Amino acid sequence: MGTHKSIKVADDLYCYVWQGRGNNCNSVLLVDVLKGTRPHILVDPGHVRNEAHEQCFDSLVDVMEQDGLKMEEVGLIISTHCHPDHFEASEIAAQKSGALVAMSCEEEEFYRQVGEGFFGFFGSRPPAGKVSLFLKEGVLSVDGTGGTGISVFITPGHSPGSVSLYREEDKILISGDVVFQGGVGRTDFPGGNPAQLRRSIERLAALDVECLIPGHSMGPEDIICGKRAVESNFQMIRRLV
Ligand SMILES: [Zn+2]
Repeated sequence: MGTHKSIKVADDLYCYVWQGRGNNCNSVLLVDVLKGTRPHILVDPGHVRNEAHEQCFDSLVDVMEQDGLKMEEVGLIISTHCHPDHFEASEIAAQKSGALVAMSCEEEEFYRQVGEGFFGFFGSRPPAGKVSLFLKEGVLSVDGTGGTGISVFITPGHSPGSVSLYREEDKILISGDVVFQGGVGRTDFPGGNPAQLRRSIERLAALDVECLIPGHSMGPEDIICGKRAVESNFQMIRRLV
């Protein structure tokens, strides 16, 4: 196996960069954020199996275990948006862990209306599991307790209810498919909207970011590190939308 590469971005934050032949997203694990026996938050579990027949989810479980982290200890699964390469494995990940599955209200509505059709189009089965936590703008709160230190930004354009996550403490931004290194999320899928994407990019560009973790690693670097590098990436991609 071994199609994900583990990058320890902070003591309690791992990025699992997809390196297979076929498509899949990067996954992010935030360690020991929640109270109780399932303290981890998993962002974008990705595909179960992709178009190249790679076992993406099994690879994620393996690479997490190599870091001493178990899927069973995940208490919350956040999908930045409902596309299969980010959301498909949420059901199996939730079955393994009993985790809550979270998405924005806007994205969940879009998924019910249109998004499920994506899965058939891409030859996969839509997850049957229910979204059990609806993300809103502001500090992420689970069971009303708050205190995660993670802010949710609703950043539509690639998909109607895409979210980006920002941790102010160490200025880490998880941007899903809004921003990549040298690129932006495509807007030609149903629910895509270039004007919204432009506004979302400006909101993210206004944040103080030291490290940007994109939903896919397509440039020479897996993640974008350093304030200057992040700023110049925003400057460059502005020309694309
Ligand atoms: Zn997408």
